[in-house]
Amino acid sequence: MYVVPEKEIAGLMTPDAAFEAIEAVFASMARRKAYNFPVVREAIGYEDALYGFKGGFDAAGLSLGLKAGGYWPNNQKHNLINHQSTVFLFDPDTGRVSAAVGGNLLTALRTAAASAVSIKYLAPKGAKVLGMIGAGHQSAFQMRAAARVHNFEKVIGWNPHPEMLTRLADTAAELGLPFEAVELDRLGSEADVIISITSAFSPLLMDSHVKGPTHIAAMGTDTKGKQELDAALVARARVFTDEVAQSISIGEAQHAIAQGLIAEEAINELGAVVTGDHEGRGDAEVTIFDGTGVGLQDLAVAHKSVEIAKQKGVALTVEI
Ligand code: NAD
Repeated sequence: MYVVPEKEIAGLMTPDAAFEAIEAVFASMARRKAYNFPVVREAIGYEDALYGFKGGFDAAGLSLGLKAGGYWPNNQKHNLINHQSTVFLFDPDTGRVSAAVGGNLLTALRTAAASAVSIKYLAPKGAKVLGMIGAGHQSAFQMRAAARVHNFEKVIGWNPHPEMLTRLADTAAELGLPFEAVELDRLGSEADVIISITSAFSPLLMDSHVKGPTHIAAMGTDTKGKQELDAALVARARVFTDEVAQSISIGEAQHAIAQGLIAEEAINELGAVVTGDHEGRGDAEVTIFDGTGVGLQDLAVAHKSVEIAKQKGVALTVEI
């Protein structure tokens, strides 16, 4: 089997390669060539850790496997980041394990690529202003990936903890874009594309904030109870997602569904826009991508990393 260590990923996996992998796997999902297995996520009663597996099979891209890992809140004492994951790939022809790949940076890249795919297909024509809600670890990845698929002229941002906004200002500067910190009402009315990436458990962006043609990539809500957007805003928008089952249970749409504001049938797969089977934005004023994060995304970027590592001769081989 091949082993691609975490420390090699930064030199192997470019945002463009991640984008291609995620766009392709969303298309496979929409064509019913790829499916995710039920997610396992357990509080293990040790070190306050949340541990789980996200797996799936993509018969088009031929990736089979799982991402194992989770959240260890006390990892600072070990000099490690709290989110830890590893992707294991299996040979779909034989069932033998084929690769173990460090999954930490890959998770950040695949999450950023997902919102970028949604921006490529759903941003309103002539979008100029990118609005960022959230300034944590993931926010910089999301902003960089968005700037690769669309020519923005300005970034505006808001975060519940204003002291973190320097991350957005620094990332915008790195991209050569002006940055301004604004309140949420200005963000909602001035931004043409909005990325939300926080750990919020109550709505931040309200329906009344959002004015004019807007695309919102809602990326923070990946667990039951989390919420970044007003349910009325979700109800007003044309909603797309990576996977409908996750969108209604752990994604942003869970609240509008629970309140009876939208029906499951109204939620569309982003992959169907990629394949050309759905018109996408059409005449909708507001579009939302409810990015919940699926195992197939992890497998897609891990698969690509192994290919690149083999080409570059940096994949280790181990007999198992
Ligand atoms: P982080 O801890 O580095 O940053 C957290 C962000 O959320 C910051 O902007 C912080 O100010 C804000 N925040 C913290 N507590 C909050 C609260 N109670 N209410 C509102 N905002 C709060 O985390 P990160 O790595 O940047 O990830 C951000 C979010 O994205 C997390 O919720 C994470 O679970 C989610 N995420 C989703 C996916 C996906 O595929 N959809 C993938 C990775 C991360």
